[in-house]
Amino acid sequence: MFPFFWDPTYILVIIGIAISGLASAYVNSTFKKFDEVRSRKNVTGTQAAQFILQDSGITDVMVRPISGNLSDNYNSKDKTLNLSESTAQSMSVAAIGVAAHECGHAVQDQKNYIPMKIRHAIVPVANLGSTIAFPLILVGVLLSYNQTLIYLGIFAFSFALLFQLVTLPVEFDASRRAVKILSAGNLLTEEEVPMVKKVLFAAALTYVAAALSTFLQLLRLIILFGGRNRD
Ligand SMILES: [Zn+2]
Repeated sequence: MFPFFWDPTYILVIIGIAISGLASAYVNSTFKKFDEVRSRKNVTGTQAAQFILQDSGITDVMVRPISGNLSDNYNSKDKTLNLSESTAQSMSVAAIGVAAHECGHAVQDQKNYIPMKIRHAIVPVANLGSTIAFPLILVGVLLSYNQTLIYLGIFAFSFALLFQLVTLPVEFDASRRAVKILSAGNLLTEEEVPMVKKVLFAAALTYVAAALSTFLQLLRLIILFGGRNRD
């Protein structure tokens, strides 16, 4: 029998997919809820981002709109802070929160925040790892359970988890910085800050879910192939 795609441990993969799905539904509904709350100070996501960057003494980062929904990101390579259409022009509390979170990444970059540097360094290794992991394991299985290839595959996959784990402090820290800046009171009122916290917490949960789901996949590979000799 070929115990790779369908076997009892596949339940771990399904649990991972369910967790990720729930987290994604939660962030979407939370964002939607607070996207309907218009900020009292009538600033757009773009204006909020520009204000925060200026206030943090960051002058070399360009704020620009991009297409997509919740595709907001900060790019440290070309120093751009990219806000999705739903964030850039919106005056909602949710949009300001997301914009401030991306500014949090720009501030991390400015301050040479170590976890962010580590995360960047891991990206190519993690991409390579998740690309070659399954082919390695598959070939290992086909070569009558060649343990070396199988272990190499599992090892390669573990870099995908490492990347997800290093992402967590980077994301939580960016949100922490965002809340701190917004609590200073120039962009949000006191009642609006807890709303932003909810949006950013929901967003952070998606990263926790991704890490958990990758962990479950790694666990499955270890249960299936780790330390087992088929002879
Ligand atoms: Zn982020």
